[in-house]
Amino acid sequence: MSNFRFKALEVAQSRHAVPVAAPTERVGDFFGSYTFSSEVMRALLSPEAYLKVTEAINTNGQIDRNIADEVAGAMKSWATSKGATHYTHWFQPLTGETAEKHDAFFDITMEGKAVEKFKGSALVQQEPDASSFPNGGLRNTFEARGYTGWDPSSPAFLMDNGAGGKTLCIPSVFISYTGEALDYKTPLLKALNALDKAATAVCQYFDRNITKVTPTLGPEQEYFVVDRALFYARPDLVLAGRTVFGHAPARGQQLEDHYFGSIPPRVNAFMVDFEFESMKLGMPVRTRHNEVAPGQFEVAPTFEEVNLAVDHNALLMDLMEKIAAKHNLKVLFHEKPFAGVNGSGKHNNWSMGTNTGVNLLAPSTKPKESLRFLTFLVNVVKAVHDNADLLRASIASAGNEHRLGANEAPPAIVSVFLGEALTQTLNDLETKSEVTVNKGDNVYYKLGLNRIPSLMRDNTDRNRTSPFAFTGNKFEFRAVGSSANSASTMTVLNAIVADQLNKFKFDLDARLARGEKKELAIVDILKEYYANSKRILFEGNGYSDEWVEEAASRGLSNIKSSPEALGVFVQPESLALFERTGVMNHAEVESRYEIELEKYIKNVQIESRVMGDLAMNHVVSTALKYQNKLAETARNLVELGMTAEAEPIKDILREISTRVIMIKKGVEAMIESRKKANNVTDTSERAKLYATEVKDHFDLIRYEVDKLEEVVDDEDWPLVKYRELLFVK
Ligand code: ADP
Ligand code: MG
Repeated sequence: MSNFRFKALEVAQSRHAVPVAAPTERVGDFFGSYTFSSEVMRALLSPEAYLKVTEAINTNGQIDRNIADEVAGAMKSWATSKGATHYTHWFQPLTGETAEKHDAFFDITMEGKAVEKFKGSALVQQEPDASSFPNGGLRNTFEARGYTGWDPSSPAFLMDNGAGGKTLCIPSVFISYTGEALDYKTPLLKALNALDKAATAVCQYFDRNITKVTPTLGPEQEYFVVDRALFYARPDLVLAGRTVFGHAPARGQQLEDHYFGSIPPRVNAFMVDFEFESMKLGMPVRTRHNEVAPGQFEVAPTFEEVNLAVDHNALLMDLMEKIAAKHNLKVLFHEKPFAGVNGSGKHNNWSMGTNTGVNLLAPSTKPKESLRFLTFLVNVVKAVHDNADLLRASIASAGNEHRLGANEAPPAIVSVFLGEALTQTLNDLETKSEVTVNKGDNVYYKLGLNRIPSLMRDNTDRNRTSPFAFTGNKFEFRAVGSSANSASTMTVLNAIVADQLNKFKFDLDARLARGEKKELAIVDILKEYYANSKRILFEGNGYSDEWVEEAASRGLSNIKSSPEALGVFVQPESLALFERTGVMNHAEVESRYEIELEKYIKNVQIESRVMGDLAMNHVVSTALKYQNKLAETARNLVELGMTAEAEPIKDILREISTRVIMIKKGVEAMIESRKKANNVTDTSERAKLYATEVKDHFDLIRYEVDKLEEVVDDEDWPLVKYRELLFVK
């Protein structure tokens, strides 16, 4: 039998790093050269149009037709001068992939004349055939129209189309004919707007010059890299994005192979290549070697305004996939492609910056700024405490379920890490007895706010096991899955913080109306908030069993399954919060819930089918052939009178038989569970059955298959093994 695995291995092992032409210019000379940036606009637009666009960007405002026509004209000539032939609205439907529909800039008439197609109207609005995108019941199938509309706050960019030409990509929102959001971006923009308003209003108590607050995001992207031939030799990787079987290499084995030494040359070439392309697209990436698992790496950009950072992350993922092909590699963004090996996340580093250049989560030595810092810090902690389940819902997916709350993964408990110094500061604040203020006294000193440690960034302990950690001047939400679109979690985070800041303002105004002194009123409110939410603070090892127990005794949720987590979206309090903050109406939230459930079901269904197919057609059939070989050997030995020597072989035969029977039974039972689930019409019930009854079979089947991998002759084993996949040269 010709074994596909060995053919793929031969191909993979003969490959070398693909040479990349390193950039000859300095970064500054090509950074953003593929973007229709602010500078390009300033150069190409009339002062009036430039002003209008800038205004629209700053206020999330609209642009009228005349201006749109002028911008479209400038965009087109800029793009065509750089080799673009097509344009597309680039948007993020709820499938999780980015979508494009390319149109040429010109049409050829019957007379053979080229006529211009790209007008202001095409810039501002397009109608892709939206029937193929999920809408969760928002549009019935007869009304297939949805609109995409230009988002001026994210610059248009050029993408190589792989055939020598380029496409102008216009970042866009995607909404239904009746105005409901069908994408990730629309509610995100609304949440960012809500945060801006709420945070600015709170800043006004401290500094009248603050008129705008911009949330910031730096997503650290983790990923695995495998050889392309090996990837295609694993049907589970191709179809499900993760390996459903595979015996994990021994721990010692993982650490061999000079792993810690340097980045493998093939991967290094890939990194240099996509880094260069990213820079051209205005993405400030810094690549890094990740030392957690073999074959796993990380790319982190410098933080940007959230909407832009989200777009850039989606674009970066696309780009990495494209460039990986050039290097005969495949990037795995799945949260848990290999059991027993570290999973991948997308750490969402988040903060808020003001128009005056202040990071609202940066501690300060100045007492007045300290109170502002503590105000924002405590409000974020309270928002996370009060809405922990909603935050958990925002990261729920089939992929992330393998990483959070599963056997070897961190638990799905949302907790906050602040570090010793900061916790001490807050404890002091809480326990401080009443402060009487005499005229002329400095209230800040009285409150001890001058004693806040200022260099917290350097002495924060790096607790790597906390899902939501304060890291000096920002929070790092680490529980986000590597394949996720950050918009989902950023929408929730910014919405809950906005909502909390609005409550804070309400509470403060009430006290001020009673004649309380501002600083004291603020401290009193913060004390109360802190007391009510500090049970979410945890400084210890977030991966330990003790924490799971303690969290339960503290009454913190540990929602393991995605369908259950997603259910929080449609609870009355969540619907009310999204409505209050103007982020989504009920129909929009419900449709999203429905879509996420359907995605979940589809993913588990695919995994389950792949598992059944591989188990029966690849593994069991191979095991049976191997059994034949062994049986023949045993028979020969007996014939030669070597009965005793045949015994160990018979033992192996028995083991294989037992395992084959277990696998067969497991697969049959799994198919039955799937049938049962498929007969349930209610989506949430069906998703729950997939999460429980269908998935319950996975572990047993996998266990038996992985045991067979250890027994069956390496020469016969059909699936590329972990040790072969994980170490790229
Ligand atoms: P780490 O030790 O976690 O790698 P880094 O300082 O390298 O920390 O930062 C990780 C990410 O956090 C980077 O993407 C960085 O740009 C981002 N970051 C830094 N400051 C902020 C901020 N104020 N807001 C959002 N993200 C930030
Ligand atoms: Mg980090």
